[in-house]
Amino acid sequence: MSVETRVRPVILIVEDEESYRDALDIGLGVEGFVVVGARTIAEARQQLTVRKPDLVLLDVMLPDGSGLDFCRELYDTTRLPVVMVTARSSEVDVVVGLEIGAADYVTKPFRLRELVARIRAVLRRPVTEDDHEVIAFGDLRIDLARRTVARRGTEVDLSRKEFDLLALLASRLGQVVTREACLDALWWGLDLADTRTLDTHVKRLRQKVEDDPAHPRHLVTVRGVGFRLDP
Ligand code: CA
Repeated sequence: MSVETRVRPVILIVEDEESYRDALDIGLGVEGFVVVGARTIAEARQQLTVRKPDLVLLDVMLPDGSGLDFCRELYDTTRLPVVMVTARSSEVDVVVGLEIGAADYVTKPFRLRELVARIRAVLRRPVTEDDHEVIAFGDLRIDLARRTVARRGTEVDLSRKEFDLLALLASRLGQVVTREACLDALWWGLDLADTRTLDTHVKRLRQKVEDDPAHPRHLVTVRGVGFRLDP
């Protein structure tokens, strides 16, 4: 479902300044958004358990923590698009410089028109949480957007690297992926891991997704070349 066909996108505003929250509540409401407010990170977490917003508008300075840290957490756990709200231009460098996963940012004071334009632009970006991002075969279901793997309907607990490796192989289902390509993708070509480390990850992954890890049916070794994920 594209964003345009949704009647009213839900925006979660995490902001401790009541005047801003109230102004945005009214302003964004007029623009056709449903606004949900949170004063603290704790309240935001609570809201997220109740409903999933389409976008999070997140202040940097919050009473119970840093919006930057929370932004990174949201990116890692939900992939929800986040627009950061900075109070000082000095914070902009931090928002832009750090890889916290923010989709965009605005600086206070901002015009409602500008904010709405940015929110709409972010919402128009390709939606990653989509059925197309799911690769399913056999008893495995790999949700690339949510970074989850389920086996016979039960979620499998994978480390970040294990998931990255599985996702890489799944993106080329049935094709050989070389050891070099795996090392490049998982460790960005940096000299952080050798081929033994890769084998360790493959082994652990097999223990989690294969019925018989010693005789893998899906995650196959192609001797001297690399690995292949068979459906
Ligand atoms: Ca604040």
